[in-house]
Amino acid sequence: MQAIESSKLKITPLAAFNDNYIWIIAQAGNQSVYVIDPGDAQVVIDYLDTEQLQLAGILITHHHHDHTGGIAKLLAYAGQQIEVYGPDSENITHLNNPISTNIQSHIKLKQFKLRVDIIPLPGHTLGHIGYLMAGELFCGDTLFSGGCGRLFEGTPMQMHDSLMTLSRLPAETRVYCAHEYTLANLDFALSVEPTNPELIQYHELCLNKRSKQVATIPTSIATERNINPFLRCNADTIKASVNQHFMQNASDPVDTFALLRQWKDNF
Ligand SMILES: [Zn+2]
Repeated sequence: MQAIESSKLKITPLAAFNDNYIWIIAQAGNQSVYVIDPGDAQVVIDYLDTEQLQLAGILITHHHHDHTGGIAKLLAYAGQQIEVYGPDSENITHLNNPISTNIQSHIKLKQFKLRVDIIPLPGHTLGHIGYLMAGELFCGDTLFSGGCGRLFEGTPMQMHDSLMTLSRLPAETRVYCAHEYTLANLDFALSVEPTNPELIQYHELCLNKRSKQVATIPTSIATERNINPFLRCNADTIKASVNQHFMQNASDPVDTFALLRQWKDNF
């Protein structure tokens, strides 16, 4: 699949399982790469072998197996001590650089000499974190294009706060989600907000991409602010639609978010 190149990084998606993306992060002139959420080791190993790259480290957003299942095999494959980052509050084996969000706001990738900001994102799981590097956001299962992760461990308020934190990032921030869920999310978004012109246009764009098996990810914070109902719980259109669906009168954005998530869970 196609790589995204910025001035500082080259980011390549590897498709895994049914709809996961494992992200490879490379730097010009450097044969070492980092990998985000390698649920499946083999697709990463095949890519590294083909491209003759070395693995410098692994970054984990949260403990779910489809994000962590390849760690042990990649460590054995690398045959040397590589950096393994992840939240220290979750049960993830093999972390040698555990991140405590209480005391750490950033890490430094040793092979890249690159600062990476750590964003606590409780909701999908309680210890979920996001990684922001050079304007590129890796947000695991918190924010999807047109949607958000399910609330397995956190409360609606936690997830809403996490999503609002992401929504406040610079508009041009590119967003690398861990799943290709976009079309299904947009079907739901269009049910909630059928007359949103940006949403209608974005749906057309994504239908076109998927018909050619092109990834809809990365998306951007600017796009998601305009089309993602879970970032728009303050919008009158979203509130009205949710209240009509549930025959309620919620006005608080967190209440609206909780109902919206419930609606999507049963969609
Ligand atoms: Zn997950």
